[in-house]
Amino acid sequence: MRDRQGFTLIELLVVVAVIALLMAILLPALQRAKDQARDVVCKANLQGVGVGISMYLEDHRFTLPDMHTYTENTNGHLWWDSQGRPLRAGDYKAYWGIAFTDYIKERKQFGCPAFRNFCEMIAKELLYGGDHKLIYTSAFGANGWLTKENTLRLLHPAEVIVAHDHMEPRLEHGNQAGNSDMLFPSPTGVNLTHYRSAGRTRWYRGIFRHNIRTGGDFKTGGSLNILWLDTHVSRLNETTGEGVLKRWYDPLGKNP
Ligand SMILES: [Zn+2]
Repeated sequence: MRDRQGFTLIELLVVVAVIALLMAILLPALQRAKDQARDVVCKANLQGVGVGISMYLEDHRFTLPDMHTYTENTNGHLWWDSQGRPLRAGDYKAYWGIAFTDYIKERKQFGCPAFRNFCEMIAKELLYGGDHKLIYTSAFGANGWLTKENTLRLLHPAEVIVAHDHMEPRLEHGNQAGNSDMLFPSPTGVNLTHYRSAGRTRWYRGIFRHNIRTGGDFKTGGSLNILWLDTHVSRLNETTGEGVLKRWYDPLGKNP
């Protein structure tokens, strides 16, 4: 009789098959748990940014700073210059969060864990080969239309967008219909058209970057998080603009 120490090939194959089956069952649940954790951290960070901004407003006659970011060799994603020195608010490369550093001490408050997968691409395409680690904490786009706005004039702060998950640091209308960073529908139809064109797949997927469920180029099943002026944070599921109002970005109707 054969010595039965150890496993036979069949027994090993059965064990391997059982492990594979367990992995198939458990991995999606693990992925969902990871997505949920990223979502929670993002929301908490945005909320902290909101609280810091309200403290800033109380000390600055309730008026927001110039959150302009320039677009030469950077789209305004940077916290440091090429020598590693902190940039000042107003520097043409500066990330908008720099304006609030006296009130929001931790730079990581401007980070979103779901943003990190996209930083290498941004560094290549917008910093022209710069270091992707420099932009881990530049995860949110600010509503450019609120630059220098006196927020006391905005009567419904719970319905005014300050910032949200996006690939561009400054959300603005751009210069063409349908070429907007903002999410409401343009006169020509769905929004984010710019990001739906060929070669921009990853940009698009970085906008609705949370809880991505489908593999389609311009269909993610994902969501993004929004910070509102009253400091509450909410989730928006992937949209072509239906249900998103222009006045959330432009509460005083100043922009065409
Ligand atoms: Zn996020």
